[in-house]
Amino acid sequence: MSSPTLPARLLLGPGPSNVPERVRRAMAQPLLGHLDPAFLALMDEVQERLRPLFGTRNPFTLPLSATGSAGMEACLANLLERGDDVVVGVAGVFGERMADVATRIGARVTRVETEPGTALDPDAMGSAIERVRPTVVSLVHAETSTGVYQPVEEIAAAARGVDAFVVLDCVTSLSGLPVELDAWGVDAAYSGTQKCLSCPPGLSPVSFSERAVERVRGRATPVQSWYLDVTLLAGYFGGERVYHHTAPISAIYALLEGLRLVGEEGLEARAARHREAAGALLEGVAPLGFEPLVPEAIRLPMLTTLRLPEALCGAPEAALRRRLLTEHGIEVGGGLGKLAGAIWRVGLMGENARVENVERLLAALRAERVGAAG
Ligand SMILES: *Cc1c(COP(=O)(O)O)cnc(C)c1O
Repeated sequence: MSSPTLPARLLLGPGPSNVPERVRRAMAQPLLGHLDPAFLALMDEVQERLRPLFGTRNPFTLPLSATGSAGMEACLANLLERGDDVVVGVAGVFGERMADVATRIGARVTRVETEPGTALDPDAMGSAIERVRPTVVSLVHAETSTGVYQPVEEIAAAARGVDAFVVLDCVTSLSGLPVELDAWGVDAAYSGTQKCLSCPPGLSPVSFSERAVERVRGRATPVQSWYLDVTLLAGYFGGERVYHHTAPISAIYALLEGLRLVGEEGLEARAARHREAAGALLEGVAPLGFEPLVPEAIRLPMLTTLRLPEALCGAPEAALRRRLLTEHGIEVGGGLGKLAGAIWRVGLMGENARVENVERLLAALRAERVGAAG
């Protein structure tokens, strides 16, 4: 992991996570042209390998050439036209970002909020959906700002009751928690490569149901974003292979290797590894005075939010995080918004979801005398 010029870091924040050696080597392979049959075969394999991660058979499943936030824009910009209604579940920063994106698209946004650290109330979502009868219902599966798992199935069922399209943010959940787009009735979903997939940031795997693609094809107005227009992207990723934009070749090499690693491990084993690492973290930090922010039933395994001991709240926590980084080479995340200075966000994502990494963090905290009496 070391380099002559860059410091070695164990990335235990909210993303990116560390990239396995096999992925780094794959990324260093020589370039192929983006229309070369040898490259197109790799792209086919990427698309094939993404479907089981999303729990879908959607033909339109592909890596967008941009980060997770572009996946968010793509789902909302394709499915919404100016003046359409959308109900957005806002349970943290990323739900908030969805509401912002939908507003900029010109949609009429109804927000259903919940306190940071809690899950969306399916009844509150359900009654907003009944009242508004929106075109789209949008929510985040794993809210990385708070560490909370959202009740997707119940909300998706309410959306289907009024024939709305469901958009789901799977940036943090994909390959760390079960994602079942087809079984849940989700129409469009997006993820990112730098969280539980442990690839470099820069791609956003997305999936659209056939019903969603039909909706895009039947729009009254063209999709506002040329770059993210699903009907144009289908020309490259579908059968015809017509030029739309130059695929980021090296990033695709990396993603494919990351997906092969997921395939070798198996999704269930990978999810179990995430749960085991998170369990070890909570057990290890409890004697040091850290408590989980989120109750177990809705707690994410790949991103743990920890309430800090009283003595660390405010400026001391920022100083300690800085020392963890500079003295111990470990990155952890701070709190956002209302939770800034009061919590940490510890990511054990993908490659990093291992008990040995928890032990490294605990050793560093003990070396910094966290929790020591007096
Ligand atoms: C990280 C994250 C995003 C944004 O992804 P970027 O790759 O940073 O653009 C969106 N949603 C969630 C839940 C995330 O954790």
